Amino acid sequence: MDSALGPPEAMAEKREELTPMMRQYHDLCARYDDALVLFQVGDFYETFCGAAERTARLLEITLTSREDSTGEYPMSGIPIDNAESYIEALLEAGYRVAVADQVEEPGETSGVVGRAVTRVITPGTLTEDELLASDDNNFVAAVARGDGSGAPSDDDALALALLDVSTGDFLATSSTSSEAITDEISRFDPSEAVVGPDASTDLVPADCMVTPFDAAVFERERAASLLSQYFGQPDALVAGDAETRACGALLAYAEYARGGEHGQADDTDEPADAGNSEPAPPIDASQRTRLEYLTHLTRYDPREYLLLDAVALRSLELFEPRAVHARDDATLVGALDETASALGGRKLRDWVRRPLLEPDRIDARLDAVEELTGSVQSREHLHELLRDVYDLERLIGRISRERANARDLRSLRDTLAVVPELRERLADADCERLERLHETLDPLADIRELIDDAIVSDPPIEITAGGVIAEGYDADLDDLRATARDGKQWIDDLEERERERTGVDSLKVGYNSVHGYYIEVTNPNLEAVPENYERRQTLKNSERFVTPALKERESQIVGAEERADEREYDLFCDVRRQVADEVERVQTLADAVATLDALVSLATVAAQYDYCRPEILEPDAGSDDATATGDPSGLEIDIEGGRHPVVERTQDSFVPNDAHFADDERLAVITGPNMSGKSTYMRQVAQIVLLAQVGSFVPATAARLTPVDRIFTRVGASDDIAGGRSTFMVEMDELATILRAADERSLVLLDEVGRGTSTADGLAIAQAITEHLHDAVGATTLFATHHHPLTDVAEDLEAAFTLHFEVEQDEGEVVFEHEVAPGAATGSYGVEVATAAGVPETVVERSRELVDEAASDGTAVTTTDVERSAEAVAATADGGDVPTDIAAELRALDLAHLTPVEALTELDRLKQVLENER
Ligand code: ADP
Ligand code: MG
Repeated sequence: MDSALGPPEAMAEKREELTPMMRQYHDLCARYDDALVLFQVGDFYETFCGAAERTARLLEITLTSREDSTGEYPMSGIPIDNAESYIEALLEAGYRVAVADQVEEPGETSGVVGRAVTRVITPGTLTEDELLASDDNNFVAAVARGDGSGAPSDDDALALALLDVSTGDFLATSSTSSEAITDEISRFDPSEAVVGPDASTDLVPADCMVTPFDAAVFERERAASLLSQYFGQPDALVAGDAETRACGALLAYAEYARGGEHGQADDTDEPADAGNSEPAPPIDASQRTRLEYLTHLTRYDPREYLLLDAVALRSLELFEPRAVHARDDATLVGALDETASALGGRKLRDWVRRPLLEPDRIDARLDAVEELTGSVQSREHLHELLRDVYDLERLIGRISRERANARDLRSLRDTLAVVPELRERLADADCERLERLHETLDPLADIRELIDDAIVSDPPIEITAGGVIAEGYDADLDDLRATARDGKQWIDDLEERERERTGVDSLKVGYNSVHGYYIEVTNPNLEAVPENYERRQTLKNSERFVTPALKERESQIVGAEERADEREYDLFCDVRRQVADEVERVQTLADAVATLDALVSLATVAAQYDYCRPEILEPDAGSDDATATGDPSGLEIDIEGGRHPVVERTQDSFVPNDAHFADDERLAVITGPNMSGKSTYMRQVAQIVLLAQVGSFVPATAARLTPVDRIFTRVGASDDIAGGRSTFMVEMDELATILRAADERSLVLLDEVGRGTSTADGLAIAQAITEHLHDAVGATTLFATHHHPLTDVAEDLEAAFTLHFEVEQDEGEVVFEHEVAPGAATGSYGVEVATAAGVPETVVERSRELVDEAASDGTAVTTTDVERSAEAVAATADGGDVPTDIAAELRALDLAHLTPVEALTELDRLKQVLENER
């Protein structure tokens, strides 16, 4: 175990001797032995011993020590006020953090202050706004396998449950295919996963942290019982045993993160015991740690959505740009996101993550987008209103977890205040989707009224120091406040009265925190002091007095104020609980607002960037059986004037291109020189299809298409060096997946496949793949290649055709037209591209010579220009007039993994070497 976790050895050896506080620390570390315990001491979270050394190094904070009668312990502390940034760093370093707060006031107890772990912070269970992206979900996943004791089909079922603890989004799915589960994990991109004992951690993609957790929570009985405590009988909720286990385990983990111990006792209710050696009595954990705002579980079948695996998500740049230096929003979702609220941002991401398949559902969204696109005024007004919407989901989560303050309640109220207007804007809506939203947008007038009545309009952050509850909400509170006010008024008037009574005009009434209220008389006037004044304090020039009546008033004021603060706190908690009881209504509203925001965003983008409504075609009824037969599928993609949604925004002038695919023209072999636009074209076709299935308008002048079931992509080595996935093995692995899983309802993009090996091999593989996709799979395929002979292959295949990108030569300069045309490219222009890229003239000249030599010997016609150039140099080297170490260097060059410019630079260097040797 990590030496920073678990009870420090130095303490464990002599637990009985430790001071009560250190024993408390030791015991909490023992109980949360898989987390780093942050132990509140006053204004700091402290760590001791190994944990202190580790955190000091990690967080670059001072390592001190604490000495008591039992020894000296290394110690380091982080200030509670800005603990969040430190905790974030600990999470990034792979720790879970157990926050042990003081749960008693130091004055309240005679012994050591009670402490309890109030939350365990893990990457996947964050609820702290500071640590979360506002417009994206943060999921924790659980993966489990059924044990076959349920339905027969459960035997090898794998299930995935996903939970966003901050919003309450909870999903479950299952499949007999482990690949399908891995794909779903990639889709939701959880930051943490717990994996059941029978499931393999290999299912979880490498970028997701796998957290070890008590295997017992995956047991069926236990999982089922927890699941039913939340949502009712598992049988009615989820499909089978595996899902029950995954969901139950995930709930247990979420409860654990709230400071509960997944069903075992803990000490949150017994703070005074935390320092004792006796364990706390067992209590039902669900009573304290239960997450009441988890009100529904959504189960889905991956086959209901367009399937996108990790490779496709990445290469289509849905959520992350591929280029290392690209702007963060140079993504598909970035191009679509004009949402005004965090709620809408998350909804939009969910839609992009799971594009639809059914034309009816797609058209329902498109209808709404169309209507909103058409009415500019209404759309802009809605957008404005939505900007005033707070993050309702996280607000109600906080309210339910009793972590909300009075300002949060006011934020909820302010959001509710917007709803009637949103509703009114939709009153005349024509399409069904917007009509339904109009109905669902319930302004929750009762909740708003409650908050309006109870909470002052600009409350303090602190909830225990008064000033939170509005006048007139509670008679007792008003009385207490009146008493305090009367007392203060009496004291305010006292000065005037006593001046009159004593005739001393300089007499003053004042207050200090040690002695309370006093009457101050300067030394020359002391003779005028009446009998009932009692001396309190002697200063240099004056004396301070109190009177019995003043003392009485004072204790009246203090007593009333203290009781008022307590009363306010109780009332606040009560209001918060009342609101929390309405969690489902708030969540329903939140979902409606989020949907509206996402639709308005799509409409805004459509209008702003001149998108068109795609016509969605019904898939052929006859092609339902998903076996790869190569039979006609009726799949059709027709795009006129299509544009790449991301590239067109960064390009001064983007050249639109058409695309046409149907049963008899379903495989396109695309050729053209480097930089001519092949990759951009292929991606834009896939992205337009994807956008349409999201229910968005698309960047084209017209589009008609049948929804596809799955998009596959394989981007060749030369295009993916930055991603570090450039080995031949990876390429073959991805191809194998495509060939195995694609069918006639798939859209396949192959970009420069067959590059990671020798030319002859590469071409052979490319040709075999083309034939297989054409004959056996029948998928709609776009294949960009530098293997020119592949265009001949395409001519021979019935439903294949060729496309190419030409370049113009203008006085030796290349000009890219970026325009796709039927037929094969006549040649490639690598060397000219090098000129355009600014490669030195000498190098370019030499390259031209080499290309010509290679062309005349006729053997290398299938390679790219640069490869040809280099190979020609190597051939010359063999001729004898080149030093053999250069020949060796040339042979060692890994051409498949060099970009053209890198290759030319390398040639230039070698040439310099030769020159120098002469
Ligand atoms: P290839 O795959 O043929 O090497 P790319 O598709 O990567 O070429 O395109 C190279 C560059 O050309 C892109 O980065 C983009 O800047 C530009 N480009 C591509 N297609 C177009 C287009 N249709 N209109 C304008 N510029 C384009
Ligand atoms: Mg390319």
